[in-house]
Amino acid sequence: MGILLTALLLTGCGGEEKKAADSAKVLRVGTEPVFAPFEFPKEGSKDLTGFDIELIEALGKQMGYKVEIVSMGFDALIPALNSGNIDVVAAGMSINEERQKAVTFSEPYYTSGLIVMVNKDNNEVKSIKDLEGKRIACQIGTTGENKSRTVEGAKVKAFNTQDEASLELKNGGADAVIGDAPVVEYYMTKAGKDFAKTVGERMEAEPYGIAVKKGSKLAGDLNKALAELKKSGEYDKLYTKWFGEKK
Ligand code: GLN
Repeated sequence: MGILLTALLLTGCGGEEKKAADSAKVLRVGTEPVFAPFEFPKEGSKDLTGFDIELIEALGKQMGYKVEIVSMGFDALIPALNSGNIDVVAAGMSINEERQKAVTFSEPYYTSGLIVMVNKDNNEVKSIKDLEGKRIACQIGTTGENKSRTVEGAKVKAFNTQDEASLELKNGGADAVIGDAPVVEYYMTKAGKDFAKTVGERMEAEPYGIAVKKGSKLAGDLNKALAELKKSGEYDKLYTKWFGEKK
């Protein structure tokens, strides 16, 4: 009895109790699940995988949270954050001024950029400059949509997912897609292999950040955890797993 009591007291006062309490904390992570290789369903499962998913899981663990993934449309993510339905957004979200008015971002964790994709047999479009007056498919609420709308005379068709925009190109409903280069490039190794190619250079660099409610202290916690993962080599391991060696 004496020994048992001592053991209970010891665990009660020690780190064990803290750990148990912490592991009960849940971090609700909003994402848009059709954005490979950042977030997409595991083969034959409803669970998501991808660079963002594994990164936020590692960050959550580092911060003592249990991560719960909540899927929704890309344009619903910031409203969900602000209404308190989710705690963070990990969705390949580019940090830009407009969004910074509504939310707070972590430090950048990945550098992306936009690119133009066309049909393989299109020899006319060599860069975004050749898209004036043309039909451009993109994803609703994204920086790709913003960019598409800067092209003079273009007919912009915005879809719920990047994959639907790409399908519109395949089906002949659009002359080009403008979207995030790593996602477009990944698509070209999969469903786009036989019909699509990219043209021109990546447009200006776009850093991705994890968004939190404006002013939330979670941003600082995420930055601290991200720095830890970089120091321990875990970030590099994830990066190489999903994108190969850093260029
Ligand atoms: N990076 C782009 C943006 O932030 C697209 C993100 C996405 O579709 N998941 O607008």
